[in-house]
Amino acid sequence: MLGLMQDWPLTVDKILDHAARWHGEVEIVSRSVEGPIVRTTYAQAHERARRLSGALAGLGVKPGDRIATLAWNTARHLEAWYAIMGMGAVCHTLNPRLFADQLCYIINHAEDKIIFTDLTFVPTLIEHRAKMPTVKHFVVMTDEAHMAAAAGLEGAVCFETLVAGGSPDVAWGGFDENTACGLCYTSGTTGNPKGVLYSHRSNFLHTLVTLASDVMGFSARDTILPVVPMFHANAWGIAFSAPAVGAKLVMPGAKLDGASVYELLESERVTFSAAVPTVWQMLLSELRDKQAKLSTLKRVVIGGSAVPEAIVRGFRDEFGVDVTHAWGMTEMSPLGTLSAPNQATLGLDPEGQVRLKLKQGRAPLGVDMEIEDDADHPLPHDGKTFGRLKVKGPFIAREYFKGEGGRILDDHGFFDTGDVATIDEAGFMQITDRAKDVIKSGGEWISSIEIENLAVGHPKAAIAAVIGAAHPKWDERPVLLVKLKEGETASKEEFLSFLEGKIAKWWMPDDVVFVDDIPLGATGKIDKKLIRDRMKAYVLPTAQPAKESA
Ligand code: ADP
Repeated sequence: MLGLMQDWPLTVDKILDHAARWHGEVEIVSRSVEGPIVRTTYAQAHERARRLSGALAGLGVKPGDRIATLAWNTARHLEAWYAIMGMGAVCHTLNPRLFADQLCYIINHAEDKIIFTDLTFVPTLIEHRAKMPTVKHFVVMTDEAHMAAAAGLEGAVCFETLVAGGSPDVAWGGFDENTACGLCYTSGTTGNPKGVLYSHRSNFLHTLVTLASDVMGFSARDTILPVVPMFHANAWGIAFSAPAVGAKLVMPGAKLDGASVYELLESERVTFSAAVPTVWQMLLSELRDKQAKLSTLKRVVIGGSAVPEAIVRGFRDEFGVDVTHAWGMTEMSPLGTLSAPNQATLGLDPEGQVRLKLKQGRAPLGVDMEIEDDADHPLPHDGKTFGRLKVKGPFIAREYFKGEGGRILDDHGFFDTGDVATIDEAGFMQITDRAKDVIKSGGEWISSIEIENLAVGHPKAAIAAVIGAAHPKWDERPVLLVKLKEGETASKEEFLSFLEGKIAKWWMPDDVVFVDDIPLGATGKIDKKLIRDRMKAYVLPTAQPAKESA
């Protein structure tokens, strides 16, 4: 027997409809790429997105076509998303931090018809135009007054001209909720990038889940500044969840340095923000240098890589801001777990709360997770045993775009995240490492993440990374790479004694190497692949005698 409730397909156009109807005057404030701060409202964004949909139809865009965006977080980018998705086309976010060759690969693989671009990226597009044969138009996200900068880009049209000329009387929504809605490629730390194809239903459900108070917990009274870019795993859903509740949105545009973010946090009275740890590290040092205060910010969600303890303590003790640690991935839309306390952890003292926040957290409704051994057997939830972390749920990928990479679910329908983790008795998951970064020493595993997050707490360290280096007896041993803060000098012994007592003896790095640069990848994470490439010729001091005799 079927239920007798209304059929109301879960499509994301309804999110902007809702925001415009019930929160129409709420502002979207953007630091525009051209410079000035621009203020619009949800009602205007709705009207403009619909006009843009009409204009796209005029350019020949059909439902299912892939339309890309290469853009910073601004109101125009938000309007482009809804214009594309609202007409049933697929919004493909491109990460401008990728190398041009990777970008061209992705554009061709997706067969993008149109690319929305900020002025910032026009020179790159001009240079590589010939390598994007499927692209018919570039919508330059600016007004006519600034179009001269795009003069050399064949197929360029002006965003504001399209909006002004488009009819708002367009087909908007009204399709099956399983229709494809967004496309985002994983950054391809292994192999070629692979496309995750979200549906309207999966994005809508992810939005509802993220609104729970133990997840992002937004309300209509919040002012939200997503530093996390819309091109990185959908800005963790904020472009949907903020309008869904009618929160004020503050879009930081191209300026993501500590000073610029701080200026907006204060001037727009931001209450909530989200970014990767490296961004918060920059902000905290900016605040300390200026002896500045955060007068309205209450909560930050930090994810994308593990949150160092120094960030949790810095925000709490110096600025009175609560940190929620989050874990997720492009394949999960992206939120997977968050570190909000539950009944079992209510009574923790302040130290215990910090330790809890260093864990990646619990699964909300809609995410099922398990840790398993290589034979797919579940492992105990004792906070110690680690295994492959697998997930299942209605906003988790079941296959990559065009079947790339073949079958990705196991026999029980679980997706292997590629992460290695523990789960404790209270249900809190903690990432030990990415499966490919874990250091295998004498048949046991050492967590590179744990050592680097302790090392970065050393007062002289700017950033730290740990990789495994070949060892004739132990297979691999950890090496700590440290980039020191400007003007600092330090010895290897200083760092080793800093770590002593904080980690098991056999986890102690065999060497400390001071470097000028620790490279970050396109999503702001330490690029271990590049570090390993750079360290190819490196030989562990502890490995040398054995190597000579080999
Ligand atoms: P990629 O960088 O591979 O494109 P994502 O940006 O989707 O992919 O990142 C997903 C991966 O990032 C996770 O599988 C995990 O390894 C890592 N990650 C995300 N959040 C955290 C976190 N809070 N702690 C540790 N690792 C994390």
